[in-house]
Amino acid sequence: MILTGGRLVDPASQFDAVADILIVNGKVAAVGADLAGQAPNPVQRFDAKGLVVCPGLIDLHVHLREPGQSAKETIATGTASAAQGGFTSVVCMPNTSPAIDNAGTVALIRERAERESKINVFVTGAITKNIAGEELAPIGSLKSAGVVAITDDGHCVQNNDLMRRALEYARMFDLPVMDHCQDYSIVMDGVMHEGYWSAVLGLHGWPASGEEMIVSRNILLAELTGAHVHCQHLSSAGSVQLLREAKKRGIPVSGEACPHHFTLTDTSLAGSEKFWSADGTEIMADHAGARPRWPAYDTNFKMSPPLRSAADRAAVIEGLCDGTVEIISSDHAPHCGYEKEVEFDYAPFGIVGLETELALSLMQLYHSKKMSLSNLIAKFTVHPARMLRLAGKGTLGVGADGDVTVFDPGQEWIFDCKTSASKSRNTPFAGWMMKGKPCATIVNGAIVWQDRDRK
Ligand SMILES: [Zn+2]
Repeated sequence: MILTGGRLVDPASQFDAVADILIVNGKVAAVGADLAGQAPNPVQRFDAKGLVVCPGLIDLHVHLREPGQSAKETIATGTASAAQGGFTSVVCMPNTSPAIDNAGTVALIRERAERESKINVFVTGAITKNIAGEELAPIGSLKSAGVVAITDDGHCVQNNDLMRRALEYARMFDLPVMDHCQDYSIVMDGVMHEGYWSAVLGLHGWPASGEEMIVSRNILLAELTGAHVHCQHLSSAGSVQLLREAKKRGIPVSGEACPHHFTLTDTSLAGSEKFWSADGTEIMADHAGARPRWPAYDTNFKMSPPLRSAADRAAVIEGLCDGTVEIISSDHAPHCGYEKEVEFDYAPFGIVGLETELALSLMQLYHSKKMSLSNLIAKFTVHPARMLRLAGKGTLGVGADGDVTVFDPGQEWIFDCKTSASKSRNTPFAGWMMKGKPCATIVNGAIVWQDRDRK
């Protein structure tokens, strides 16, 4: 396959220029000007003129819900949604039922993904048996079964000694540990950010310190054990500052941020009118008349960690811009409609995100002129690939896997969640005007998804 005339952005090799890319036998064979002459015959051609061509995007935080929760999502639908969002690889979380806490379940997911997914699925294993936080999972056998990291995501190991042992084993087996940072004794039954709006709305608060306490703990344990700890979906200014200082001291820690945390704030919980007139004034400013409406207490704005204050949002963006936070993920967390259509306190935490992730990131970071396109793409490609040591991924260097994402950074479109490939519809971004759209998702040199409007 040959892609011609696109703006090729490969942060791993600091390449950013108009160029062709030739993929032969599923691997990148050449990158450069006018490669058409070198292409074998017959060859599949893709005219990428006016489009960005980059290494296949990787989302390292996705809930595919299989086994056990296939009413919410399946490997087939979740990965189809990822492909539609421009992702060629996803990393799935182990909080399924049963949990992915043993080699047999890892094998089951990998076999099923082999059959039912057109994109790459990497699997994480649990830190503790049944994600109960009491007893370590068999970390060595999870590693032999092929997991790329361990995490109890959705939950957080509260016992610091157990977490220390987990890090010691993880280091021995050369596995990064990813952590959902939540101190249960502080967060209790909190459902939204603790602050002005939780008081006004009468909802229990989930204070930022509930996250920061565990980020601090993880930094101390990473320093003690030498294991790599990756803090998932960071939402607060304090967390970003802790991570910044720890990295300066050379401690092996990293962090990720999600588009909802750097786009929305806790004001969203008071309804769209309050949001657009306060924290949302700069978002979709050119399309102020087309801004979607939603009521107060909308459960599609409930996730964990929760949407935080405008100052936290600004700090997360600053952390992304100065390199403290190296990775962007969706935390794609599908739930059935009936599960979310309940009182705010009773709704499950989480939103879908794979199909809005690239556009929201482009809008908040690139179109806002806060970050270069290459820096943004690095957070979806070379950085997650390096952290998880995904061989052949995250770059378009010669010999790398032929995984490519093609997108139009300037295309405006409205996100209609009825057209989503996911099984679930729990998104706060329904009806939003987006800027930046995937055009084609290519895995091993084959197109696995293409925007129908462009074909
Ligand atoms: Zn989580």
